[in-house]
Amino acid sequence: MKTPCPCCAGIQTVYAFSTPPMPVAAALLVYNAEESCNLPKKSLDLWHCATCGFLWNISFEAEHVRYDGDYEGTQIHSPHFARYLSELANRWAAKFPPETRRVLEVGCGQGEFLAALALKTDTELVGYDPAIRDENLYENVEMHAALLPGADTSSHCADVVINRMTLEHIENPAAFLELNLSWLTLHGLMAVQVPNAAHTIAQAALCELQYEHVNYFTPAALVALFERLELNSIAIKIDYGEQHLSVLAHRKTSNTEQPIDLQVFDIDALQREQQSFGSRWHSRLTTAIRADQKVWLWGAGSRATAFCANLPDPNLISGAIDLNPVRQGSFVPGVNIQTYLPNYLAGQSNLCIIIMNSVYRKEIAEKLASLGSNAVFYCL
Ligand SMILES: [Zn+2]
Repeated sequence: MKTPCPCCAGIQTVYAFSTPPMPVAAALLVYNAEESCNLPKKSLDLWHCATCGFLWNISFEAEHVRYDGDYEGTQIHSPHFARYLSELANRWAAKFPPETRRVLEVGCGQGEFLAALALKTDTELVGYDPAIRDENLYENVEMHAALLPGADTSSHCADVVINRMTLEHIENPAAFLELNLSWLTLHGLMAVQVPNAAHTIAQAALCELQYEHVNYFTPAALVALFERLELNSIAIKIDYGEQHLSVLAHRKTSNTEQPIDLQVFDIDALQREQQSFGSRWHSRLTTAIRADQKVWLWGAGSRATAFCANLPDPNLISGAIDLNPVRQGSFVPGVNIQTYLPNYLAGQSNLCIIIMNSVYRKEIAEKLASLGSNAVFYCL
């Protein structure tokens, strides 16, 4: 039986490969080593659409994943990321429809993007996310620690509905977008940002595959999904070192079909990477240790979880550094690797640091230099 693509509905879909079991909660805050090591793990069974490049975990089970106050996904403590988020807020605010009264963000995390928007616009800002820890964190942002309900009256409607880094977590993205659209005014703007799967596939970026991410959207896949929902994509942008994909869209006003820019994706490279990743990194880590280097991860978020799940022996790693103070003392989910603030490495030399995201390399090198530490770097 053919499994149709959830984005373009094409039937040229094939089983791609499966990952090793990895923690179902890649961004959970867990402060106990035993609890961390005993977290449930599941493999991803990835299918691929040859038409639009969409990749998805066909065996995903939503009941394994929870988004509550123990879910920590923010990168806002990085100055590099904070600058980027501010630029994104600028760019999107410039596209808001005239006389925008209300902006709704679905899956707003702890509200950092809405807070960035608050500096650019005086419109009403509303956010929903079950992971919100403090609904009153920002004076000028209305936050609800809940899933988005259906919009019951048109007076609730928003002129702009945003979901950033959310759609990849959703088992049925079409149904989720329809719920989002129930909140959108007739001529409103829909703004979606997801990790760019075209980059994941082209770079064979294995650690971008995480259980919490059900969906991996290429630009063509996201535009095809929008097309099925009668949305006209008006701006497609790839940024953040080609890692982020954002699409702005309006409801269609006519029946014209939007041409989709299809690209052929070599999914085999990602599969080959899956086979060689563990032994290559094991050899790199053991070589560093033989040279008396201490191996540290920089970044203790979901990529660190995926990295460790793909290693034969994660115990070779001394610890993880993260700028987020909430993570201090927590363990990388699935392993006995504790997280520290950068100051922990002050004055240390002979460090081998594995950077979870290359966009932070410059910032990390500067931070270490300011701490009087020396390191060799590897980037995922
Ligand atoms: Zn497709």
